[in-house]
Amino acid sequence: MRKSPFPTQASYDMMIVGASNAGLSAALVLGRARRRVLVLDGGPARNAVAFNSHSFFTRDGSSPGEVLRIGREQLRPYAVEIHADEASQARLSSNGLVLTLGSGAKVTAPALVLATGVTDELPPVPGLSELWGRGAYHCPYCHGWENRYNQVAVYGQGEAGYQQAVLLHQWSPQLTLCTDGPANLTAAQYEHLAHLNIAVLETPVAAIDGSIKCLRAIAFRDGSRLPVDAIFLRPIQRQRSDLAAQLGCDFTPDGMYVQVNETGLTSVPGVYAVGDMTGPFQQAILAAASGTRAAAALNNELILRDSVLA
Ligand SMILES: Cc1cc2nc3c(=O)[nH]c(=O)nc-3n(C[C@H](O)[C@H](O)[C@H](O)COP(=O)(O)OP(=O)(O)OC[C@H]3O[C@@H](n4cnc5c(N)ncnc54)[C@H](O)[C@@H]3O)c2cc1C
Repeated sequence: MRKSPFPTQASYDMMIVGASNAGLSAALVLGRARRRVLVLDGGPARNAVAFNSHSFFTRDGSSPGEVLRIGREQLRPYAVEIHADEASQARLSSNGLVLTLGSGAKVTAPALVLATGVTDELPPVPGLSELWGRGAYHCPYCHGWENRYNQVAVYGQGEAGYQQAVLLHQWSPQLTLCTDGPANLTAAQYEHLAHLNIAVLETPVAAIDGSIKCLRAIAFRDGSRLPVDAIFLRPIQRQRSDLAAQLGCDFTPDGMYVQVNETGLTSVPGVYAVGDMTGPFQQAILAAASGTRAAAALNNELILRDSVLA
């Protein structure tokens, strides 16, 4: 008899839901640890809309698709199966974790890594969603450098708009904060923005004018226009999948992210969560690193399960 935090009978050693930066990185470590791994690929990565991905050590400027293509190619030597299917349901059973897939199939393993990411809910400004990742961005560490000589607008109100504008000032000296109505700034915030030479425009926005490759201007409801090359904003984020909620995982106090410990373990034994879904500091390389860390922790757990005698 062996002592175990995990049940023992399963068709895979572990399942990973999500085949982007976090999921493929976890798969690499687990595959190289001689584990039999199932990866479920439910569709494009979060930044798939962007032409280029930046700030990823050794891959700065590659297309997001190219980074993942290399990631998948380098999994070939290992016992990692990647299936194009979505996990629609997750539950705990006496055999471990059970996933029901979009195809109707059920798969089981003693452990599960969730790498399902977040979605970005953009404000309902006409033209904005078409330019998301191609002129409209959220992260200056990803797309600030390319806009250092450009006319840049920050779209947002209150504390969030103020913070984003102050941050962007490091990259672009030609900066306007467009608040699309009342700015909801304090007197001290107005003063600080003026000190940084950041103009504040409260005129309601009618649309973003641009084509798929080129943002041209912000059009205001009063008929005026502000020529800009890029817009930065902070969209509301939501979990892309409700699998963690189905399993009863704890969430962060704001309810937005899955609560994990330093290794990526959630509040549910045997279930890890990695990448963007676990917190607001989101970069592809951080997602990949969290996948690596969780994979090693999970592998260690399974080694203990299989080697400790009762
Ligand atoms: C416009 C834009 C540009 C960006 N540019 C950069 C950049 O230049 N540099 C950078 O470092 N970061 C950039 N980012 C951030 C980067 O995209 C994320 O940090 C990174 O993709 C997070 O990886 P992830 O694996 O955690 O999640 P994701 O990339 O979101 O991947 C989650 C995966 O899980 C899959 N999935 C979800 N639910 C299921 C399910 N139920 N079953 C099966 N599969 C499922 C999805 O299909 C998806 O493939 C950008 C983000 C955006 C929005």
